[in-house]
Amino acid sequence: THDVHIIGGGLAGSEAAWQLAQRGFRVRLSEMRGSGDTTPAHQTEGLAELVCSNSFRSDDDERNAVGLLHHEMRRLDSLVMRAGEIARVPAGSAMAVDRDVFSAEVERVLTAHPNITVVRERIDELPTSGLTVVATGPLTAQGLAESIVRATGQDRLAFFDAIAPIVHRESIDMDVCWFQSRWNKGDGKDYINCPMTKEQYLAFHQGLLDGEKIAFKDWEADTPYFEGCMPIEVMAARGVDTLRYGPMKPVGLDNPRDTTPEFPQGRWPYAVVQLRQDNKLGTLWNMVGFQTKLKHGAQVELFRTIPGLENAEFARLGGLHRNTFLNSPLVLDRQLRLKGGEHVRFAGQITGCEGYVESSAVGIMAGLMTAAELAGTAWTPPPRSSAMGALLAHITGDAEAETFQPMNVNFGLFPPLHDVKKKSRKEAYTSRAKADFSEWLESAARVPA
Ligand code: FAD
Repeated sequence: THDVHIIGGGLAGSEAAWQLAQRGFRVRLSEMRGSGDTTPAHQTEGLAELVCSNSFRSDDDERNAVGLLHHEMRRLDSLVMRAGEIARVPAGSAMAVDRDVFSAEVERVLTAHPNITVVRERIDELPTSGLTVVATGPLTAQGLAESIVRATGQDRLAFFDAIAPIVHRESIDMDVCWFQSRWNKGDGKDYINCPMTKEQYLAFHQGLLDGEKIAFKDWEADTPYFEGCMPIEVMAARGVDTLRYGPMKPVGLDNPRDTTPEFPQGRWPYAVVQLRQDNKLGTLWNMVGFQTKLKHGAQVELFRTIPGLENAEFARLGGLHRNTFLNSPLVLDRQLRLKGGEHVRFAGQITGCEGYVESSAVGIMAGLMTAAELAGTAWTPPPRSSAMGALLAHITGDAEAETFQPMNVNFGLFPPLHDVKKKSRKEAYTSRAKADFSEWLESAARVPA
């Protein structure tokens, strides 16, 4: 018998199990690896295996959002941070670990815990009753994924992320770009437009063809992607004008500063790059249709040749990967529960966060929310100004559902501090976060006994 069934013994599932067990609740942790099953990326049977890099990224909690997330996780006695400390290898200001030592430590702690039963089994159906946490990650097994689709409705679970680069609003040069939606539809100002001359467009097109790309993994290449999320360089390769009839279409967009005869159509530029608001705060804007397999360095170099984006700072760069994730702003409530099936909670990358650390942090929160529910107490989320609070708010409602794509933690998710000078803004975000997080920790409502 158990109080909670956690499905998936990766980073998020391990954290959630730990948080619940430490509070006295009995957990059944089901992990399919070790039962004859695996995912296309995992290599071992160990719990919390790191499938790729061995880095938890920056450990700087004064200037970096993921470092701040480390800080908050440590304050919540994170198992991932504990095991990470034990497995730590030198990596400058980053936190990197020996992946085998790390996974072995997580597994040792969880299997030894009197409140946890680790069962090696694959789960193919969402349980119809009993408190459940689904933490099956970006490579959720097929049967369960289908069961989730049946519960959420079609088009609510994606199997690929098609990530267009996301730019910090304050780094866009509005002396070059302008606000307008095509043909002034909607409220007429929904997009930020970057104009291109013919010469600029041709150079950009060539840059897309020449730029260094990342190859699909074999198991990714087998999964067809839809036209709607085709990489921009694949579109570019179809013909020099394909993009001008696709995502870079200039029609209906009048550059208010266009007084030069350089643009052949007169009022419309030769081509346009459009950015669309990506979060309710208006701090992040995504480059529409710019999902890409270009290497990150090549993206930064090429995208900064776009007029108005010369100094662009990217909250995240583009990509396209196999990735199972929910349209969380639509299907989950503010406590990560499935709307219409509230006994099921989701955690980790499947909720639409991105990265080892973020997945673990969402695992902690799912554990705490479930613990509160079992204890019959109300759960107050971490403050919006903290890394955890910002991440949770983003995936459970602040992100735009229509363009929802997995997201790393970054300061663009935080309530903006416009009146602080740019130079000291990162420190301002982290010190505000730490103060607010401390207050939250001290408040009795936070965690049940
Ligand atoms: P996972 O850690 O994947 O855990 C999910 C677990 O559920 C797995 O152990 C799986 O075996 C199990 N499972 C799945 N289906 C079932 C089922 N039906 N029944 C029972 N068990 C099941 N993030 C980074 O920060 N850095 C990177 O370098 C990085 N590289 C990545 C490379 C690849 C190829 C992929 C796919 C992702 C990568 N990520 C990376 C992103 C992501 O943060 C990690 O995948 C992270 O492990 C997600 O944590 P999670 O707990 O949500 O899922």
